[in-house]
Amino acid sequence: MGKKLIITAALCGAGTMKQQNPHVPVTPEEIAADALACAKAGAAVVHFHVRDNEEKNTMETKRFIEVIDLTRKKCAEANVDIVFNLTTSGAKFPEDMRVAHLPILLPEMCSYDPGTMNWANSYVFLNTPAFLERLGTLSQELKIKPELEVFDGGMIGNVDYYLKKGFLKSPLHYQFVLGVPGGMDGNIDSLSFLLPKMQPGSTWSVTGIGRTHMPMMLAGLSEGCDGLRVGLEDNIFMEKGVLATNVSLVERAVNLALAAGREIATAAETREILGLIKQK
Ligand code: ZN
Repeated sequence: MGKKLIITAALCGAGTMKQQNPHVPVTPEEIAADALACAKAGAAVVHFHVRDNEEKNTMETKRFIEVIDLTRKKCAEANVDIVFNLTTSGAKFPEDMRVAHLPILLPEMCSYDPGTMNWANSYVFLNTPAFLERLGTLSQELKIKPELEVFDGGMIGNVDYYLKKGFLKSPLHYQFVLGVPGGMDGNIDSLSFLLPKMQPGSTWSVTGIGRTHMPMMLAGLSEGCDGLRVGLEDNIFMEKGVLATNVSLVERAVNLALAAGREIATAAETREILGLIKQK
């Protein structure tokens, strides 16, 4: 057995709707229940977005508090440990709001999207230089590890820039999110381009969007990834025409990893691998 594999469950994201897959969790109760179920199935990290009462994406601090407090309570009752990873994306919301939940909830990780792109030809996935400087500084002050979500080739160079300028600190952790139209394709060519450009001593995880979900897991395992991200944020099908659940996606990742000779990392082991600090 080689190094342990970190599985991240990305439960709902900003845009997966119940109309597409009724299993996507959107209420605080549903999100907390899915987080716990995914952790029991083998996910060490849970990546959170939250929704309003109309199922729409929101960055409201109050909602984050509601969801994370409830999840922490359920996990404590069940004696289940997870690493909390909270999103900071949400281009339609004020930058103040995109970081307001961090000092209150003190998760171990937060997303850090190092660049702007046209998301699936529909809107501008906006991450201004000022926001990236601010988020880098804040995450260091709060001892929250930024997960560098790289969607596109230019973003990996931006990571180098923010590291050089001190807004990011080594060792870095990359999450390659491939297959979003507007970003890089979910294929081995993209991964082969990106991997050699990582900073030395970094860790990395990968996810493929939609039909690239499975191929990118296999590619990640073949390249010795530290983590795999799965979940309804990224992909709603197990196979063509068969809707997935978050738990079924985590279980499949566990099985693939075990078949590839990788043991699954616990939340505690993940903290060691990524150098995370549990503050709450
Ligand atoms: Zn996300």
